[in-house]
Amino acid sequence: MAEGQSQESPKLQVEAAGKAFEQEFERFQRFTGDSAHAVHLSLREAEAEQRSLAELRTRHFGRKSALAACKKLIGRVSPDERAAFGQMVQQLESTLGQQLEHAEQALSRLVESARTERESIDVTLPGRRPRQGHLHPITLLRERIEDIFVTLGYAVEDGREIETDFYNFDALNIPQNHPARAPQDTFYTTDGFALRSQTSTVQIHAMQRRGAPVRMIAPGRVFRRDTPDPTHNPMFFQVEGLCVDRGISMAHLKGTVAEFLRRMFGAKTVTRFRPSYFPFTEPSAEFDFSCFKCAGQGCRICKNSGWIELGGSGMVHPHVLRAAGIDADEFSGFAFGLGIDRMAALMYSLDDIRLLFENDVRFLEQFG
Ligand SMILES: [Zn+2]
Repeated sequence: MAEGQSQESPKLQVEAAGKAFEQEFERFQRFTGDSAHAVHLSLREAEAEQRSLAELRTRHFGRKSALAACKKLIGRVSPDERAAFGQMVQQLESTLGQQLEHAEQALSRLVESARTERESIDVTLPGRRPRQGHLHPITLLRERIEDIFVTLGYAVEDGREIETDFYNFDALNIPQNHPARAPQDTFYTTDGFALRSQTSTVQIHAMQRRGAPVRMIAPGRVFRRDTPDPTHNPMFFQVEGLCVDRGISMAHLKGTVAEFLRRMFGAKTVTRFRPSYFPFTEPSAEFDFSCFKCAGQGCRICKNSGWIELGGSGMVHPHVLRAAGIDADEFSGFAFGLGIDRMAALMYSLDDIRLLFENDVRFLEQFG
């Protein structure tokens, strides 16, 4: 009886191993059966099936599987049964192995096609627009200013940013040791050059090159030895204007500045001039305009005064005309200057002008 059992038992074990496999494998039959072509899986589903099939292979073909246990039994059955039993185990192994392999191949084809499908281009989808940049707010404002003066008959001059002492100070009637040099202190190179502290330098170049009469504006970058804070930056933008001709008077200056401000801030803009001092003009005046936000009623932007201070101006000092080689007895002229950054800060209500130069795209893209 004991012998009978030991001969039955290995066969039963082989059959049980086969049945256990078939039971678990059944759900994978759909990938290899007759209707396999109709199976459609997403990439994620196909990959999940592939993983469970790999686990199934480990369970039934691995070192601790029932099939492995059956193989170990081959040496233990009685010699006359051994050949038949060995064949039985081999038969099972190859049948199950083939089924597994078919299913594995079918699944890897499914994964492949799901992957291709996902990567293929759907021409019906809306395209992705490439991100488009725009000009910097300072440049946009500078161009607006240029447009206004060009229509008034002014040429736009480009100047150099590195200057000699002569152009930056002496020719502008600011001799060595003049107190006006202090607030305009700038950055110097070791060989006697300086980063220009004002665009007024371009006046001298323009008058030397063009002679009189001349009408020009010079927008550009200027430098001061300032510590950066919400209203100061060691580098900022100015626009300078110059008009030299016979018989030019303060009335021309006032008319020109007022017209510019009306075109910039609206037809109702009012301009006022306050006496002031600049070494390169005589007489000199600072100009204010009625607040564009509250029309002179008083608000946060104009600090409740109704007026906004914008720039400096005056009649070109005869010393400056002569330094540039122009006959001060025949010609007279006016000049004015204003800060572009300051104007941008006002128009866009910026609390800190340094925002303009930090190049943070989140800030800059508001001006597109
Ligand atoms: Zn106001």
